Amino acid sequence: MSDRMKAYIQDAESVLLHTYNRYQIVLERGDGVYLYDTDGKRYLDFCAGIAVFALGYNNRAYNDALKAQIDKLIHTSNYYYNLPAIGAAKKLLQVSGMDRVFFTNSGAEAVEGAIKTVRKYAYLKDGCRDHEIIAMEHAFHGRTFGALSVTGNPGYREPFEPMIGHVKFARLNDYESVLGQVTDKTCAILLEPVQGEGGLSVAEEGFLRSLRKLCDERDILLVFDEIQCGMGRTGYYYAWQKYGVKPDVMTTAKALGCGVPVGAFLMTERVGASSLAAGDHGTTYGGNPLVCTAVEKVLDLFEDGHIIENVREVAPYLEMRLEELKARHACIRERRGTGLMQGLLFDRPVRDVIGRALEKGLILINAGPEILRFVPPLVITKENVDQMISILDACIQA
Ligand SMILES: *Cc1c(COP(=O)(O)O)cnc(C)c1O
Repeated sequence: MSDRMKAYIQDAESVLLHTYNRYQIVLERGDGVYLYDTDGKRYLDFCAGIAVFALGYNNRAYNDALKAQIDKLIHTSNYYYNLPAIGAAKKLLQVSGMDRVFFTNSGAEAVEGAIKTVRKYAYLKDGCRDHEIIAMEHAFHGRTFGALSVTGNPGYREPFEPMIGHVKFARLNDYESVLGQVTDKTCAILLEPVQGEGGLSVAEEGFLRSLRKLCDERDILLVFDEIQCGMGRTGYYYAWQKYGVKPDVMTTAKALGCGVPVGAFLMTERVGASSLAAGDHGTTYGGNPLVCTAVEKVLDLFEDGHIIENVREVAPYLEMRLEELKARHACIRERRGTGLMQGLLFDRPVRDVIGRALEKGLILINAGPEILRFVPPLVITKENVDQMISILDACIQA
């Protein structure tokens, strides 16, 4: 590392609140599936800004669309209509199969909106104010209070208690554990169809079908957090589409804007008509012309660039190469995940492997201390997979 980069890092540590143990690189620019640090060193990126930069960096059409919008109008507030928001909403509803959308500035805010939606829906039904939400152990939904309250990692919650309350936890793919938590007060069941931060566990089709049936019978709202597993990552726009088990409320973010801060919560017409009304929810920035231009362009480029087709082609290859890697190294216990959202469970912490990979020009992240996570840009090729595997192989051997 150059003295210059060391100085940048010292500078950063003297001003930024220390809420991350950051890796020791300063990133400066990106191109395709590669990132470059301030020393000009190139990295193959299997993190994509945590499942964000689906289209790869420096996409010309995306950049041009944003630049043009910057010269027109960046922000207006939600007191008025704007054209990019209309266009983005229409396209997002079309690919998601939902009927109503509210744009937010982040994933956590999308979860907050979903929580307010399900509580209001239940409140309008019976006038009570003590409804319960069932969430999953190991789930991750964000760092704000509502989102944290439904996050299934007690360590994240404890220092900040009390949480919002009336949240119960069940186990993913264990229908009985969900049933055991259902009461007359249950207003929603919330889960990630594929758990991201929690360790790449995939919800089983039978489990999702049982939840859907339970929710229909008891008028409970089924909420899917598709913030990480959505936007094509599993080979479908949204992970639930593989099984056709449709939620009543859904959240999306991360790759939605491919780098600009935007998320959304969506719902069916039925829920939209009997939950949040005028005055119930708002945001200053959410859905402004700049971020909605990004959303609209991203969805156009997904279609034009056959992004989902690429995921379906490359993902099985990645899965196969990860299985081979697992067979070669006894320290790898298990492969998990689906599509371009994969994980390898090790019998030890993976931070050292990630550090060695960085030295060799490969960016990887973890999901919990012992799981390596692979969430590359959705435009990666099989050659990129080979490159990644050969570097990782050497790093595990070391
Ligand atoms: C990242 C993530 C969030 C939180 O999104 P932020 O934009 O970081 O607030 C919520 N849910 C899931 C599943 C996520 O992966």
